[in-house]
Amino acid sequence: MKKLQMVDLKGQYQAIKSQIDASFEEIIDNTSFINGPEVHAFQKDLENYLGVKHVIPCANGTDALQIAMMGLGLQPGDEVITADFTFAATVEVIALLQLTPVLVDVDEDSFNINIEAIKKAITPKTKAIVPVHLFGQAAHMDEILAVAKEHKLFVIEDNAQAIGANYYSKSGKVLKTGTIGDVGTTSFFPSKNLGCYGDGGAIFTNDDNLAYTIRGIVNHGMYERYHHDVVGVNSRLDSLQAAVLRAKLPKLDTYNKARQKAAKTYSEALKNNPNIITPEILGSEDTHVFHQYTLRITNGRRDALAEHLKEKNVPFGIYYPIPLHAQKAYTDERFNESDFKVTNQLVKEVISLPMHTELDDEQIDFITATINTFLK
Ligand SMILES: *Cc1c(COP(=O)(O)O)cnc(C)c1O
Repeated sequence: MKKLQMVDLKGQYQAIKSQIDASFEEIIDNTSFINGPEVHAFQKDLENYLGVKHVIPCANGTDALQIAMMGLGLQPGDEVITADFTFAATVEVIALLQLTPVLVDVDEDSFNINIEAIKKAITPKTKAIVPVHLFGQAAHMDEILAVAKEHKLFVIEDNAQAIGANYYSKSGKVLKTGTIGDVGTTSFFPSKNLGCYGDGGAIFTNDDNLAYTIRGIVNHGMYERYHHDVVGVNSRLDSLQAAVLRAKLPKLDTYNKARQKAAKTYSEALKNNPNIITPEILGSEDTHVFHQYTLRITNGRRDALAEHLKEKNVPFGIYYPIPLHAQKAYTDERFNESDFKVTNQLVKEVISLPMHTELDDEQIDFITATINTFLK
């Protein structure tokens, strides 16, 4: 059996090695490291793939979120609603901009932000909602957009984990996650579904004015050379990363299908175990691109299982072990424990299994047999 790994970036590289090596050599040869033609070409490729008017590449997914919020003109004291159960970056940038993070509970089937909880959290100070398409599954965008419209709120999609996922809107349109709200963001961190070989990120929008504003913000607030109209940041995707992403983008659908196939094989083997809840796909299969394959262990033995997997050399991850509302940096006296029932439960139950494009049936059989034997 091939060695088990949480992600297998080396295996994926082997298949595209000649293309990547050649483009690296060319970029180094003509020293177009920053803002080279590769970056612009990748931007166009991604706009076409996503069916969105504007892609603005930047340095990482955390910057992308921050810049999106700056671009929308959110001001200190504005309240921004987001999920209690997500990676810290989502709430970190809200706090960093001196906006007020308002954390709300998630759904137990999809792990995504709960609509009723959003409604309950809206106040006159609320300015935006940040749904996260967690673990690769599209959040309930129709319902979120309806609430946002009613209360005149911006919707910023954190699409770091779901690039390539489809969303079937009630209007009949099939849209890519990240292109549905006012603005969407993603990360090209190496282990993400579309990852580069360093840091990278991007912002998506169909709004021409917002795209213009954001293009200035990523470049020190410059709209004309050496004229700084607004306070900006320095956030760039470099040419080497763009070359990796250009090589991988045409394969993204194939990569996501490999993840979906692995998820299906896992679920077939685990779904009849009474101590396990396998991930639920709420729409058609292409609405979930399985950035993570996350189980709920319902008999209170999640930590014991984790110990056992460690002994058997099966990699795993606990995403996420602590709700954001309970993190030192983000606790707030206004939070009420009883508003976070689902997240408080999930952090005790979740465990994520190896998930990448190179997993084979032999590996999955070994992992699921190890789990089923232990959790009889
Ligand atoms: C990875 C991730 C980010 C941050 O991306 P970086 O490129 O690491 O800055 C933000 N939000 C979510 C949900 C993520 O998973």
